[in-house]
Amino acid sequence: MSLRIAVIGAGPSGLAQLRAFASAAAAGAEVPEIVAFEKQSDWGGLWNYTWRTGLDGHGEPVHGSMYRYLWSNGPKECLEFADYGFEEHFGRAIPSYPPRAVLFDYIKGRVEKSGVRSFVRFETPVKWVSWSDETQLFTVTVKDLKSDTVSSETFDYVVVASGHFSTPNVPYFPGLEMFPGRVLHSHDFRDACEFTGKNVLVVGASYSAEDIGIQCHKYGAKSVTFSYRTRPMGFDWPETLSEVPLLTHVTGKIAHFKDGSSREVDAIVLCTGYLHHFPFLDDSLRLKTNNRLWPLGLYKGVFWTKNPKLLYIGMQDQFYTFNMFDAQAWYARDVILGKIALPDPAAMEAETLEWRAREEAVTNPEEAIDFQTEYVRDLLAATDYPHLDVDHVAALFKEWEHHKVEGILTYRDRSYPSTLTGTVAPVHHTPWMQAMDDSLEAFLNVPAKAAE
Ligand SMILES: Cc1cc2nc3c(=O)[nH]c(=O)nc-3n(C[C@H](O)[C@H](O)[C@H](O)COP(=O)(O)OP(=O)(O)OC[C@H]3O[C@@H](n4cnc5c(N)ncnc54)[C@H](O)[C@@H]3O)c2cc1C
Repeated sequence: MSLRIAVIGAGPSGLAQLRAFASAAAAGAEVPEIVAFEKQSDWGGLWNYTWRTGLDGHGEPVHGSMYRYLWSNGPKECLEFADYGFEEHFGRAIPSYPPRAVLFDYIKGRVEKSGVRSFVRFETPVKWVSWSDETQLFTVTVKDLKSDTVSSETFDYVVVASGHFSTPNVPYFPGLEMFPGRVLHSHDFRDACEFTGKNVLVVGASYSAEDIGIQCHKYGAKSVTFSYRTRPMGFDWPETLSEVPLLTHVTGKIAHFKDGSSREVDAIVLCTGYLHHFPFLDDSLRLKTNNRLWPLGLYKGVFWTKNPKLLYIGMQDQFYTFNMFDAQAWYARDVILGKIALPDPAAMEAETLEWRAREEAVTNPEEAIDFQTEYVRDLLAATDYPHLDVDHVAALFKEWEHHKVEGILTYRDRSYPSTLTGTVAPVHHTPWMQAMDDSLEAFLNVPAKAAE
């Protein structure tokens, strides 16, 4: 019997795995049977926007953490698939910072072209995965939400691609339970217009805090106060945005901070990060990590060293996204197809620890970009993934970091060259701060009908 592979999740990481096998099949290779299980009714992962929060229509936790008016927070040139560029998808060059709907369209374009949709079982969350030493197989138990039935199948390999920006990490601050306004985690943030005219407290100092804070400002919040735990983001904020140390407690509408200062606020958004959460895996298979560039226990950042037939895609903290998932998926594919041999467990563990030591030596964002660049380069060297100029991508990431420092409200107006074609992206027709409509049609400046 041929090999069977289960892929958990059809977001960018899971789709990279499907695409990797499709490209091998197109080149004439005999590929295993692949079944991707996706709990949502469509693919695209976080990029598949949902208005829902809390539980979905089947009582399952809502996966989506994206919100309306979300625009890419990094240049699209840094995430471009090497085998399917933006110009190929849109038939022309487009600006460097597209809104969510445009990136969703791009992600879908590649997999629609590869014809892999039939591999995906939608509305089918994976509930449990177990391994048998005796049969050397995984048993994957899933729930078909449409028919409300639970069933199990066996697989030779399991690829976990369920993402790690979905289960909120929610700290407690005394007094929150009595706060007379809205308190929410960024996972449940959907529309900045809710905070128009309000004084918003954003707890956190990472990408979510930064972006949700400036979204609220863009859509008319009266003020935004960022509260940081370790260090401020330090951008040159407009007058109504400011940074204060960590929240200590809340009394009524007054938020109190570690430096003794206090402010009256109307709403509190906890941008306090996410948990790597795999409720479908038992202890022996489960990755336990915080969000970092090098989680332990994964050889090449992918293979569970205790049982390398279990693979994880996209579990690192991310500068690189779509093309890093591709690099991982192509490597994973070639190991499964027997083109790349894995070393013995001791050697896998030793290499993993070497990468961790390098990660621990990273002291600033530029070094972090270099670290992830070396990781992606290492993976790419082993497979036939089309040429990706990672040095060019790294240089763009560093430029982007500088551009954010130069103008946190204007960096999205910049343009960068494609590392695939060299074409410099056109400047967008509207500066980001004035671009209130985040639809694909408005961005591409085409009538709604023509864009369908
Ligand atoms: C608010 C926000 C903004 C972001 N902005 C950017 C950006 O501008 N640019 C960028 O490059 N990256 C951005 N990211 C990073 C994002 O992580 C990646 O772009 C990408 O979505 C990760 O892909 P993934 O497939 O690993 O995970 P996800 O996109 O999370 O997809 C995981 C999939 O697995 C499914 N799933 C989960 N559990 C199960 C289960 N038990 N059974 C079956 N299916 C399951 C989910 O439904 C989902 O479809 C952002 C992230 C967030 C949260």
